[in-house]
Amino acid sequence: MMRGMVDIFDMGDRLGPTRIVHVSDPSQGLKGVLVIDNVARGPAIGGLRMAPDVSLEECARLARAMTLKNSAAGLAHGGAKSVLWGDPRMARADKERLLRSFAHALRNEQDYIFGPDMGTDESCMAWIKDEIGRSVGLPAAIGGIPLDEIGATGWGVHHAAEVAAAHAGLSLHGARVAIQGFGAVGRHAARFLAETGARLVAASDTRGTLHLPDGIDVARLMAIKKGGGAVTDYPSGQKQDRESILRVDCDIWIPAARPDVVREENVHLLRTKLVLQGANIPFTPGAERMLHERGVLVVPDFIANAGGVICAAMEYRGATQSQAFAAIEEKIRSNTEAVLKEAARARQLPRDAAVALATARVTEAMGYRRFGMM
Ligand code: NAD
Repeated sequence: MMRGMVDIFDMGDRLGPTRIVHVSDPSQGLKGVLVIDNVARGPAIGGLRMAPDVSLEECARLARAMTLKNSAAGLAHGGAKSVLWGDPRMARADKERLLRSFAHALRNEQDYIFGPDMGTDESCMAWIKDEIGRSVGLPAAIGGIPLDEIGATGWGVHHAAEVAAAHAGLSLHGARVAIQGFGAVGRHAARFLAETGARLVAASDTRGTLHLPDGIDVARLMAIKKGGGAVTDYPSGQKQDRESILRVDCDIWIPAARPDVVREENVHLLRTKLVLQGANIPFTPGAERMLHERGVLVVPDFIANAGGVICAAMEYRGATQSQAFAAIEEKIRSNTEAVLKEAARARQLPRDAAVALATARVTEAMGYRRFGMM
């Protein structure tokens, strides 16, 4: 699980990591690690993952992803990630004790702000806030903004869609939208897009695909899902298996479920003009390139789905919900525009343009730091 010293020193590059902190107290069953990748743009925000099987190398990769995501989102925050080893489903009292001990051990790491990730939730963030005062993704009772309930990421996806539609020669009004996954990201993206005049023609969940070319009533579908039903419980439309969402003839296709759902062997099924990646890494790199070569515009995940992290950064500053929505709108619109313009100019994949933009921002910020302060 843990890697040797040589590997740790081999792991970095020009951007980071700037700091790796191991936490260990065998008497308490406490074992964890924090990787702060880069803080040139400001204190790092990154999730705390609780899992029995994460390597230091993976933690460092996730920390780098946060550096680029926060930079691409235009936030004055660096990137980091922490991992606490253990089963996240352990008894609540044991989990609270471990989390509090981990946070306490990292109390002097002022450059790291904890956020929720796999295995941790808003209660975990509340315990950390109580312990050391530095966490985001809090319960509303202590100043948190419930981002999944209000649809922060879906709001951002919808703004990315408005900007990208112009680049793809589409009008959102009447555009046919298909969404894979009707959870926190997918259902709110559907709601905001429908309010702009787009037509939801298909949606899927783990149980199947609903296809209705005349348009699905989004509020009605949301009510069905809220009541515990499946998208296929909608009273009209064709009911198909869950993979059928890939074949739906549409203008905008939004993956909002799982990683790697579109791969080299099934990418040919997609019949769309524009893709907005609501989920994280929903396409393999090869599939994304193949789609690009077919002339389909793909707005990459860390540009399109940054609404959640922007909301968290705003929460940290004590912002209200409406201030958070305004910041998401402004940042996602300007970043999507910058990335798509540069991708068109340099004839490159939007993802490559986005990574270059994010890296350039970090590099410039590093130029303003004193030597040794990444
Ligand atoms: P969620 O659990 O609320 O919703 C996921 C939905 O996808 C569920 O309805 C589930 O039934 C469905 N699903 C799962 N596997 C599927 C499959 N194979 N086919 C069709 N549907 C399937 O999760 P979420 O918060 O909406 O997150 C979705 C994705 O977006 C994840 O990759 C997540 O990492 C990413 N993401 C989420 C946020 C956020 O703010 N919630 C922000 C950025 C990225």
